[in-house]
Amino acid sequence: MKRAAVITGSTSGIGLAIATALARSGADVMLNGFGPAEEIDAIVARLKAHGGRVAYHGADMTKPEEIEDLIARTHRDFGSLDVLVNNAGIQHVEKIEDFPVAKWDQIIAINLSSSFHTMRAAIPLMKAKGKGRIINIASAHGLVASPFKAAYVAAKHGIMGLTKTAALELAEFGITVNAICPGYVLTPLVEKQIPDTARTRGITEAQVKSDVMLKFQPTKDFVSVEEVAATALFLASDEARQITGTHFSIDGGWTAQ
Ligand code: NAD
Repeated sequence: MKRAAVITGSTSGIGLAIATALARSGADVMLNGFGPAEEIDAIVARLKAHGGRVAYHGADMTKPEEIEDLIARTHRDFGSLDVLVNNAGIQHVEKIEDFPVAKWDQIIAINLSSSFHTMRAAIPLMKAKGKGRIINIASAHGLVASPFKAAYVAAKHGIMGLTKTAALELAEFGITVNAICPGYVLTPLVEKQIPDTARTRGITEAQVKSDVMLKFQPTKDFVSVEEVAATALFLASDEARQITGTHFSIDGGWTAQ
């Protein structure tokens, strides 16, 4: 059956892989996120080759009215909204006492509050259809903490609570709400953290990869974006209709410790 999906922060990394997997499955896809116009045009063209409709909306996840418009336009353009993937996220690595207040606010807005705003707008549309899938890209940091990532860890723990609350509110409406908790995935977000973490801890960038990032990932390997996308695709499927209010960890054993 034809499905329409919106994926926040899908111009890069995990979001782009999820958008690609959904487009490949035949879904209509609304892309979102930042980036140079020519790169976004190229992504739209690449995804359109899979046969579904593909559009782009540049809503800034710190702006509730733009988020509302993203959801409304997805529904208007595709005539339906079946899958919402809350994926947009940023990171900042700093000690709490030196953490810039504006960065705290921005991370809470993008990594947590934006999901409340997308859900607030999407839920009435999904309820009217009697069906829906909401997938929140949380993190291993939604379950456990690391130092120097106060805003990120707080936001990701918050999204776990929002996931469970929404799942309970929506269970009888055919709408499932789940989180995916990846460990370290080598995407631009993680690559950008390497120099900052090296500076904060006074170690080399190679040591950040081996001793900090993969230290807690027992498989000693990064997660791939395609592995996260495959899990999202499963959660979006009809077969996953009884899976709600929970999370899948894809973290090479990190949170088993
Ligand atoms: P990324 O930097 O590759 O992609 C982030 C996306 O979010 C981009 O498309 C970017 O344009 C978009 N974005 C950023 N700010 C935005 C804003 N204000 N409005 C709209 N879009 C915005 O990062 P990624 O690693 O693919 O991360 C995606 C999600 O996965 C994030 O929520 C992140 O916390 C989570 N995650 C990542 C990892 C990892 O190791 N990479 C691990 C666990 C969870």
